[in-house]
Formats: sequence, structure tokens, C-alpha cells
Amino acid sequence: MINCCGSSSRNEKYKSQNNNSKINIDQINNENKLLEKDNQKDKFDSKDTPNGNHQERYELYETPVNNKAMSNYGTIGLDNLGFCCYFNSAIQNLKNVYPFTFYVLKNYKSFNKSDFIYSYCKLIANLISQSNYKYQSFEPREFFNHFHKLAPNFNINEQNDSNICIFYILSKLEKDTKKEGLPDPDIIDSLNEEEKVKFKDYIYKSYSNRNSYVLDYFFGFQQDIIECRNKDCNAINYLFQGFSVLNIPIVTLQGNQILKLEDALKYYEYKRLHKNKNGFNCSSCKESNIQTQTKIISYPKILIINFKRIGEKYFYDHNVQIPAKLNLDKYNYELIGFIMHIGGALSGHNIAICKNFFDNNWYEYDDSIVRKVDKLYKNEESYLPDTKNGFLFFYKKQNVFDNIETQQQKNFIIRESAKVRKELI
Ligand SMILES: [Zn+2]
Repeated sequence: MINCCGSSSRNEKYKSQNNNSKINIDQINNENKLLEKDNQKDKFDSKDTPNGNHQERYELYETPVNNKAMSNYGTIGLDNLGFCCYFNSAIQNLKNVYPFTFYVLKNYKSFNKSDFIYSYCKLIANLISQSNYKYQSFEPREFFNHFHKLAPNFNINEQNDSNICIFYILSKLEKDTKKEGLPDPDIIDSLNEEEKVKFKDYIYKSYSNRNSYVLDYFFGFQQDIIECRNKDCNAINYLFQGFSVLNIPIVTLQGNQILKLEDALKYYEYKRLHKNKNGFNCSSCKESNIQTQTKIISYPKILIINFKRIGEKYFYDHNVQIPAKLNLDKYNYELIGFIMHIGGALSGHNIAICKNFFDNNWYEYDDSIVRKVDKLYKNEESYLPDTKNGFLFFYKKQNVFDNIETQQQKNFIIRESAKVRKELI
């Protein structure tokens, strides 16, 4: 589960990796574990992807934009504290979720100094507001230290995974963004009435004390249907779960076959048989002869999709086509950012590519270096040119945040972030 390097320069040879990561996604994230077990087959050869040649991916402006003369809002880099490119890419993408950034800056006066969200607020304010440094990057040490206190598995000198980092950051922020009432997610149309009732019941039981702004923006829900195929039993169990990061296994592809993201999401909901497999036992008769199926019940406003490219030993560089616009059930989504992994499973480097809210241009955030990306897509309807290295994708549901996507709100974010930088010391 190693995918990060301490290098902040793509010309520097990647440093050797410590691969004793203490965190396993299965430990922290029960969601999708049935599917994960099914998919953990180390049948691929180790494939080292070429590192650093961005010309193959997209055209970059050669001059970093975050030197002072060319600076623009939202284009400040992050210094690498050690082996923290996974962390930096995660933060750049979270900051880029402007509806949530807007919420955080709007409410900064209500945060306590000891709150995690207080530290988060200061961090994103520093990343948006102009700084006085000649080379504009920011050192996130204070925030990282706060994060480390709450999640001690994350250390400056150890690599980790961006998807796990985001999962933890959101779960910590969730506690500081509580609100009254019950969550009210958009239930998708394809559910029948019985399923809708079950889901409402589940929400009521599980989330009546857990409603928060983080939940509101980032949480979707899924239902696992677990059917026993033993004829004397036939028990059916339903398991409802919330998710903030949707973990999609990479499907075994043949040769140069290319998988579309839309198809990968369909595959995620396929029925699967599990016979004589450890950990796949019926809760009633205890036999291992079950069928599982996962159904997405509610897609979040901000949909974060993780392709499980990193295995214990291998980096699965299967081709997956990532669309600029994604249609799911009745909702349309727009890609607003992603993280690429460059290198193999045991060593590598993470880079964030985000669509900047302030000027609608795409930027590459490579730790402290930020460069403008010229024409990421051929057109609005097309797919990302690089299909092998991206693993974490951020989609924003269209039409639900339109009320804050105005010049006035952009100005608000700029003004408030400058205030926060002054006031929150
Ligand atoms: Zn059974």
C-alpha cells in the first residue's frame, strides 16, 4: 500500500521507500470488503510506468505559475515535509472542493482553536490567499501535526495513500461540522419503494446523531445484499453503509482493452458468487455459499472515486477512461480534480491535477511546484488523455452548488481567506 515519495522534483531520482505502512484500508474501511477479497489476485507482473514525462499526458506551461510574477488565486503549492506527496495531493484536491471551502471560510469565527477544522481552515486560507514568498508554496507543518495527533498512523517520514488520508481527514472534520436534523441524501430513482423505506429507516437509526456538513457534501450510501444459496436456508441480509471514498477494484482486462469509468461503476454492482471462501459465510446457517451484490443508493454531491491500482506488490496500470462529464442515474457530474501515481507499487510519486475554481484553468500541483495545464481535454465531452496513472478522481454534482458559483462568492472566498490568514494565528 505504498505510493508516495519524498521528492518534490520530477527530475530527482525517487527515493527508496519504506514499505512498512501500518495502515491497511481493510482495517479502517469496511465498505467494499467483500469485493476487495474477490479482487486480490496477484496475477499481474510488476509494471513500472515511465516517470516524469508529462508530455505524454498533457501539455504543460514550462514556467511554474506560482512564482510571484504569474501568481493567481488557488495556485499556491505545498512544501513536502518528508514523504508527504500523498498528503499534499489530497489537500490540494480537498481545497479545490470550493463549496466546502466556502462553508469552512464562512464559519471560521465559530471554530474553537483546538478544533481540527480550525487548523484546516487556516491551511486552506493560506493556500488561497496570496503569500509574500517569492516562490509561492506553503509549509503545512502545523496542520500535519494536528492531523498526526488525531491519526497517529500518518507520519511525516512514512508514505501513505491519498485515498486513506482523505478518508481520515473527512472523518475528523465530520466531528467538527455537526448540524441539526437528519441527513437528506438524494435517493436514486432506480430503487423500488421497499428499498427506499429500508434506506430511510437505516438513515434514521444510524445517522440521527451524525448529521454534519461533511456528510452533506461527501457522503454517499450503498446497500450490500447478501443472499444465502444453501437451499435449506435462503437467508437474505441487507447491509447499509455510508462511504466518502468509493473504492472500485480494477477489473481484470485483456491486453490493451480499455475500461470506461461508467462500466467500472456498473461492474461494482454486479452479483458475485462466493463458495467455500473464508470470510464469506451465511450469518444464519454458517455455510459458505453466498451471493453478494452492492447497490449504490445515493451518490454524494462530491463523489470521490478510488481505483485500487496499488496492490501489495504491483501497480495495476490498466487503462481506464475518465470522462470530463459523468452521468449517473439522474445526476450529471463534472470532473474537478484527480491524483496521479507515477512509479511502481513500492515507490512512486503523487501529483494532483485540479480545475481551479477562480479561473477555471487546470493546474498540476507537484508539491511546491504548480504549473498550468494546457488543454487537458480535447473537448468538454472527452476523456482524460492519461488512462493508466490516475487513481483518485473528484467529481462534483452539477446544479446543486450553482448558487455559490458566482463572481461574488469567489470574491467572498478570497476576502475571507485573507482575513483568516490575519486573524487565526
Ligand atoms: Zn444460510
